[in-house]
Amino acid sequence: MQFTHDWLPQRIRFATGGAAGAVAEEVRRLGASRVMAIASDQTRATPVLADVPVEVFHTDVAMHVPVEVAERARSVAHDHDVDVLVSVGGGSTTGLAKAIALTTGLPIVAVPTTYAGSEATDVWGLTDQGRKTTGADSRVLPRCVVYDASLMLSLPVPTSVASGFNALAHCVDSMWATRTDPIDRALALEGIRAVRDGLPRVVEEPMELAGREQTLYGAYLAAVAFASAGSGLHHKICHVLGGMFGLPHAETHTVVLPHVLALNAPAVPDLDRRMAEAFGAESALTGLLALRDETDAPTSLRDLGLRADDVPKAVPVILDAAPPSNPTPVTTENIEALLWAAWEGKEPA
Ligand code: NAD
Repeated sequence: MQFTHDWLPQRIRFATGGAAGAVAEEVRRLGASRVMAIASDQTRATPVLADVPVEVFHTDVAMHVPVEVAERARSVAHDHDVDVLVSVGGGSTTGLAKAIALTTGLPIVAVPTTYAGSEATDVWGLTDQGRKTTGADSRVLPRCVVYDASLMLSLPVPTSVASGFNALAHCVDSMWATRTDPIDRALALEGIRAVRDGLPRVVEEPMELAGREQTLYGAYLAAVAFASAGSGLHHKICHVLGGMFGLPHAETHTVVLPHVLALNAPAVPDLDRRMAEAFGAESALTGLLALRDETDAPTSLRDLGLRADDVPKAVPVILDAAPPSNPTPVTTENIEALLWAAWEGKEPA
């Protein structure tokens, strides 16, 4: 066995019901005294920031971090001479904190409120005139993440489900992405098991903590695996669809994932068997589809707003971006078939 695995240096705290105290400790630990709080929803974030010296509260957050939104936030950080960024929100909020850290080197304490997982990666993303650019940089990795499942109780069930599938997509793609290794796969499999266990409970009892905690724990493992393994075909497809047509992030992942799994799993029977075990199903695909049906997750790109004439436009861009090491070689035919099936909401072939 020969591989090299880089761990990202990050402090992780699971603190259900205790985010405010944990955030205060972490800000003190960093020796910081001028906090820039970043959140799309000030009311939701305020209790988390009760014990830290907030210099400025910034709520100008937008999905996929448009460059002008990033520039405005950087100016606010500069004008208020802040020395730490505390983000409280989903991937869009964490993404904005990362955009500031990218150019300023300011440390981030991240408090996630969805299952997107951005907080556990060193990947940043910025959108300029509809084109999304991403990169990896150690400056954007939050120094500390505070996970508090009680903050998820307000996340509506459909958003929770899509976000949970976004986490599963990190797991599934990590099984075969370009830089994957046995550690990434182990994390991804435990991530699948935890999300599979937690998400139906979130749907059944959205105000109960146990399901939220399991899903959050799985989402963290998923993101760690993904940060190390890199993007596989699934993420390339969703990246193209999100960037070119502005489709909603988590929901697009939810719709596309079974189709990529159906394309790739037959080429890697051993990985399929291990994912099936994690799902507690006969195959990875039947496990994923059962979870999709149980949680009433979205199934069609058409319903998410993709137009029929956009489908052929996406195909060559996906073929360009697809990793050459994808388990099943990609062709115009199989990508076209995959997109049409996902567009119509057909069962994956
Ligand atoms: P989001 O952050 O835009 O949140 C979705 C919606 O949920 C928003 O309206 C938000 O206000 C609301 N919301 C968030 N938390 C809530 C809560 N607890 N209660 C009620 N409402 C709440 O969406 P997302 O799916 O979390 O993140 C998507 C973004 O993150 C995309 O831009 C994506 O590219 C990025 N992302 C980046 C990485 C990375 O590694 N860099 C990984 C995953 C996602």
